[in-house]
Amino acid sequence: MNPKTSTVREPGTSQAWLVGSGIASLAAAVYLINDTQMPGSNIHILDRHPKSGGGITSSGDSENGFLIRPGSSPYFHAECVEKLLSLVPMVKNSDKSLLDSVRDFEHSESPVPGRVANTRFIRTKEGHAERSDANHLSIGPHNRLQLLKVLLENEKSLGRKSIQDFFGDEFFGTDFWALWSTTTRFNFYESVILPISAYLRAEGVSFHFNTKVVDIILNSSVESSNDAKTVSELVLRESNEEQRVKINPCDLAIVTLGSPNSGAQVGTNFEPPPRVSDPDDITYGDWSLWFHLASRSTNFGSPLNFNSSTPQSTLVTFTVTLYDPHFIHLYRALTHDVAGTGALVSFPDSNWLLSISVPHQPVFSNQPANVYVIWGYGLRPEKLGNTIDRPMTDCTGEQIMAELLSHLNFPAESILPKSNTIPCILPLATSALLPRAHSDRPEVIPQNTTNIALVGQFAEIPSDTTLNVEYSVRGAQIAVHKLMGLKKSVPRPKTNILIDIFDLLSEGLT
Ligand SMILES: Cc1cc2nc3c(=O)[nH]c(=O)nc-3n(C[C@H](O)[C@H](O)[C@H](O)COP(=O)(O)OP(=O)(O)OC[C@H]3O[C@@H](n4cnc5c(N)ncnc54)[C@H](O)[C@@H]3O)c2cc1C
Repeated sequence: MNPKTSTVREPGTSQAWLVGSGIASLAAAVYLINDTQMPGSNIHILDRHPKSGGGITSSGDSENGFLIRPGSSPYFHAECVEKLLSLVPMVKNSDKSLLDSVRDFEHSESPVPGRVANTRFIRTKEGHAERSDANHLSIGPHNRLQLLKVLLENEKSLGRKSIQDFFGDEFFGTDFWALWSTTTRFNFYESVILPISAYLRAEGVSFHFNTKVVDIILNSSVESSNDAKTVSELVLRESNEEQRVKINPCDLAIVTLGSPNSGAQVGTNFEPPPRVSDPDDITYGDWSLWFHLASRSTNFGSPLNFNSSTPQSTLVTFTVTLYDPHFIHLYRALTHDVAGTGALVSFPDSNWLLSISVPHQPVFSNQPANVYVIWGYGLRPEKLGNTIDRPMTDCTGEQIMAELLSHLNFPAESILPKSNTIPCILPLATSALLPRAHSDRPEVIPQNTTNIALVGQFAEIPSDTTLNVEYSVRGAQIAVHKLMGLKKSVPRPKTNILIDIFDLLSEGLT
């Protein structure tokens, strides 16, 4: 029984319409099949792109260069992602799950002495590149106190305050901040998105690509006494043709709101990515549906808060295809780290605040043995580079690589001709982290609705932290459990007991 209406939702007769084919929707489909026994043929995934994965896609070949757009690596010690992967067989009818395959890989690569990377930063000192260890982080007593204050503050009272409201400039120069603000890793399109999509197809789930959901029609529900709204129709656009899909009260819609990947622009080794000159281009893509919903009720939050500050949310990523091992050898000599044994390495002296990941090779299944792929990004791409006199957003791939090589003090003349760097501008990459009021993010089950759930990076999950895969997967699980009236509980995000106590106390005071 759905908690807000008297509608009984039987998995065998309900149809589930999932907007978006990113990890949030894929996870929702897996939970519908596994936790509610909904037949796969009752599940329909719609995405305006030509393939699944949403923001987490990768492509390319050694001739044209490889491309990893956001560079996501799942946090495999995150509870919801682990549970999701444990539900998906590695191949059809296999006893082994995707999680088993990840664990097998981890064990085969298990850290032996000298195989765990320690380098977190590379600083430029008197023209030399010098590694520094994660073990020597220091922020000083004042910043330590401020950090505690941020952790203990109730989210509602934080409101739209930004991190700069708590810390002075000196904090942002510390190694601690550089690590805190750059700790993300690598992409998992081939090892996770593709197998989950194949599993769902084998279960009978239908994927409708190049299909945009332009609107969702909500009507007052006849079943509900309190004027709750029920989705009655989806308006779709496919190849400029509009179609309407009727939704019954026992059916459900799970909608991924917006996307941090919206408006992504890809360049080449010799061309910078084209600029999105009209901010409406970004809004029109993945965000227009959220704007429609929000214009009808404040229960759907405020998308404007997240996609109207592109100077603050833009990030440039780059994927480098290397045609010989020279770079990898020099990197190992500098850091003493083997490729794939560590996290990101950041360059705190870089004006663009560059970070790179030198992952386990091969990164792509079609990557030849003598080709290597590394990935990186700049958090302050609007600034002029230290040696390249232009903003990162205006640079070709080759210029970005030249800037990186100068921070490493590696010889550009031998490495540049043997590399192909593909830059990618993501105008909304960090939009989910922009300062916001509590009501800017709608609840997973918006108030006063009966058969719609909102998932992704912009739906409100109390005590959880956005901009990671775990967040989207947890939201999907909450959505399925609530809409299908399951009693099972979704694992709560792990917080410190002290924070829970202070939250309780401060709620009591407000
Ligand atoms: C630079 C960067 C690095 C990252 N690194 C990491 C990392 O290391 N680890 C980690 O865990 N996470 C990382 N993330 C976050 C991770 O990429 C996201 O958590 C994840 O992609 C969100 O998945 P999602 O399914 O919620 O949304 P998305 O991946 O954005 O997918 C949403 C999909 O829905 C589609 N869509 C939206 N509206 C409509 C509509 N109306 N009609 C049809 N289709 C629609 C979109 O086109 C898109 O395909 C990173 C993100 C960025 C930007």
